Amino acid sequence: MTYRQLPDIMYAEVHPTPVSRAELVVFNDPLAEELGLDISLWKNPELLAGNFVPKEFTPIAQAYIGHQFGYPTMLGDGRAILLDEVLSPQGERFDIQLKGAGRTPYSRRGDGRAVIGPMLREYLVSEAMHALGIPTSRSLAVVLTGEPVYRERAFPGAILTRVASSHLRVGTLQYARSKNVIKEVSDYTIARHDPLCKEESEPYLCFFQEVLSRQAKLIALWQAFGFIHGVMNTDNMTISGETIDYGPCAFMDTYRADQVFSSIDQTGRYRYSHQPLIAKWNLARLADALIPLIDREEQTAIDKLLGVLNTFEEKYREEWRLQFGKKFGLVNPSKEDVAMMEAFLELLEKEEMDFTNSFLQLSDDPFALLFPSEKGVNWQNAWRRRVKENSTPEDAKTLMLSANPRVIPRNILLEEVLGAARSGDIAPFKEMLEIVTHPFSAKVPEKYLQSSPSDKKFVTYCGT
Ligand code: AMP
Ligand code: MG
Repeated sequence: MTYRQLPDIMYAEVHPTPVSRAELVVFNDPLAEELGLDISLWKNPELLAGNFVPKEFTPIAQAYIGHQFGYPTMLGDGRAILLDEVLSPQGERFDIQLKGAGRTPYSRRGDGRAVIGPMLREYLVSEAMHALGIPTSRSLAVVLTGEPVYRERAFPGAILTRVASSHLRVGTLQYARSKNVIKEVSDYTIARHDPLCKEESEPYLCFFQEVLSRQAKLIALWQAFGFIHGVMNTDNMTISGETIDYGPCAFMDTYRADQVFSSIDQTGRYRYSHQPLIAKWNLARLADALIPLIDREEQTAIDKLLGVLNTFEEKYREEWRLQFGKKFGLVNPSKEDVAMMEAFLELLEKEEMDFTNSFLQLSDDPFALLFPSEKGVNWQNAWRRRVKENSTPEDAKTLMLSANPRVIPRNILLEEVLGAARSGDIAPFKEMLEIVTHPFSAKVPEKYLQSSPSDKKFVTYCGT
């Protein structure tokens, strides 16, 4: 495991705590194949539950800080254990982690465990994100542990096997800086994610720029699919640009710029419209951590980092324009088109319309009137004119249908299938998983298409 090359302070050696009865609930065969995993080893519920750890594995929990809702706390993997790193057939390195595998030195007052509902929720939402084309950690399996886990009441305990191109977070580098090992950890991170920066005259600045670009793209993709992460603390923002930590996240049905789902986000810090702003705020924390690597003169280092940090808005707007452009059938949207696209979102919000379904209706039939108001009719006419100038109707439609999913994991339905799974019926979950991992397919049962007006008041919880 390459992570163990890092200074000891960065991790703790720890073994999963065995459970009483491991039972496989869901396993991701296509992912296992993609990663070239040996099925006879990895599809074994005893391994996935942490009861059996091959001798050559040397599991650890990682240490990191997290700015949680703006305030820093010492965290670390409190219930996740990094089992091993694997190399895919293409030579790409991946972490395989068990989430809910027992206490670690970073557990604080937590029990190190997880329950079935939130683990299945992460499995389904992360796999749906992947199918939508959004960079994300993946889910290999969920197992039941045969042990109760106490939250508001007793729930069946479960463990999720999470796969990611690494679990390096903004908070990992913040922690490294606080322990005076920022150079070692940054060099490792660069070797793992941005090896080309090593050749640059300013490798650490190059690295910062790369992380920033990945985040700008990621957030634009979240916005394009109506995804609200819900807990964008610095420990939940990866260096790889993959979405991580599926606690209180949710896709919105009705479009509302200020939508918040998370029960603990009282001030709306992580609301939909704030996601780009928060990404930049988190990147500023990363910049803080990198200061000593940039220049001996602190002010010079800060100026250089700020120079990069301030490219965020532009990068983000560019990504937003490209992503939303596709949704409107525009290959090369101009700056003026941005105003047209934003006007659409305002109309959606005013008419309290469904985000996903409205884009889909425009894609399926650009002539069917979407909005009842005169303003809306005018908008649609103007939009159709722009599409005509930009490409052929056929090309526009193909583009739109590749960017506007027919189905997203809708909250009310997801709760229903998780409820069934909690009481032992996994079939509805598996059906929904199959549907949401083919989001652009033309054949989707009617119930997955329905927008729920009560979705606005839907509440999510940090999945403990
Ligand atoms: P999160 O809000 O999910 O990002 O979690 C914040 C921190 O709390 C992370 O360091 C987790 O490892 C830790 N944590 C969450 N749930 C538990 C638990 N049940 N036991 C121990 N640590 C936990
Ligand atoms: Mg987290």
